[in-house]
Amino acid sequence: MLLRIALRKKPLKLTALMTATALAVAPMAAVAQENKGPPVLRDTETEQLLREYTRPILRAAGLEKQNIQMVIINQGVFNAFVADGRRIFVNYGAIMQSETPNQIIGVMAHETGHLAGGHLAKMREQMAQAQTQMIIAMLLGAGAMVAGAKSGSNSGLSNAGAAMFSAPGEMIRRNLLSYVRQQEENADKAGVKFLTSTGQSARGMYETFKRFTDESLFAARGSDPYVQSHPMPAQRVAALEELARSSPYWDKKDDPALQLRHDMVRAKISAFMERQETVYRRYPLSNNSLPARYAHAISTYLHGDLRSALAQIDALIQQQPNNPYFHEVRGQALLEGGKPQEAIAPLRKAVALSNNAPLIEMLLGQALVATGNNAYTDEAIAILRAAVARESEAPIGYIQLAMAYGRKGDYAQADLASAQAAYLRGDNKTARDLASRAKTRFAVGTPGWVKADDIVSAKPLPGQRSN
Ligand SMILES: [Zn+2]
Repeated sequence: MLLRIALRKKPLKLTALMTATALAVAPMAAVAQENKGPPVLRDTETEQLLREYTRPILRAAGLEKQNIQMVIINQGVFNAFVADGRRIFVNYGAIMQSETPNQIIGVMAHETGHLAGGHLAKMREQMAQAQTQMIIAMLLGAGAMVAGAKSGSNSGLSNAGAAMFSAPGEMIRRNLLSYVRQQEENADKAGVKFLTSTGQSARGMYETFKRFTDESLFAARGSDPYVQSHPMPAQRVAALEELARSSPYWDKKDDPALQLRHDMVRAKISAFMERQETVYRRYPLSNNSLPARYAHAISTYLHGDLRSALAQIDALIQQQPNNPYFHEVRGQALLEGGKPQEAIAPLRKAVALSNNAPLIEMLLGQALVATGNNAYTDEAIAILRAAVARESEAPIGYIQLAMAYGRKGDYAQADLASAQAAYLRGDNKTARDLASRAKTRFAVGTPGWVKADDIVSAKPLPGQRSN
């Protein structure tokens, strides 16, 4: 499943903020383009791969206990950045443009260097208090969020927040997501150290940054203030090259099995996110590789014929019967094709093969609810409750839970789940209204009442509107 999570009813206008940040590398024309769709992508396969990429690096940096989250942003241009002490943000474009695992791992190592170095730590720690969706809403809609920041106490957060949110875009970029040159060099050095200590080459990091240096030579003048004032100097990249080449692992290649998983994720992202003609240009029908066939199968289910898509997916399953994501996409195609009953078996298989990945459990819960068969309701509730307990930032789990409770006639729990979904979407008014109604339906002091009360009395998180 590749979910495009909505934060607000209207698609957000993505500003240059998102693309002109830590790496400051986006081609100018791309920065100016408004991206379609909501800003966060959720996909178990992609997130799992990114977690595996970053885990050894974070361990080497002494950050393994921080539970650093990977967040994939719906942007086709290259960017990756840390905005606080507990999340690494990466555009799907950065994954698409990284031809090898080592290239994106190198970027993650550089970003981890910023994390470990505590660069701009104060503001970032303050941001860490907010939920991911709120952070992204804040980054994307920064100009409109002055209210939340002003209403706080006299804490550092409100001071920093007021400065952040009242500043124009360029000021926010400089203060929040840009680094001084010394920090860039330190992050490069730390990144190389983390890679070397985990037996990995820094060649991918060098290749990526070298490409940006070359590209920035051709960037249009005046089109982006950040790149204008913070070019990636050739000198920095030369120093990085020297350091990277001194590692005994410089020539080490990616494991072919990992390269295949990387290629599969890129094929999936392409199929879900790019125009169909782009997908078939990248993966022509003559390309019979597993990633190309994955892209074709997904593209067929999205734009074409369900029967043909299922036949293609079944051929993939025949090749890798224990790949949970093939069963997941089979279930998703059936569910979205209006066949929820038939989606249940492949989704059960995907849940089992993925060790109960919560996002896949949510899809199974959705299929069970969508059958309209009340015999599934209790099971759906049990699965969805387990899923939201482990994945607390995906509104879809609560939305499905609300439907399941509604089906059962448990309107107190249905209102509470709907309130939780609204809260995660950043719609505080709806969340409060639903939670207030839920409170009247629960006995005072019961766990449901307490949860509803928490939502009613919750202060808007930074980046949320208070109305
Ligand atoms: Zn950096």
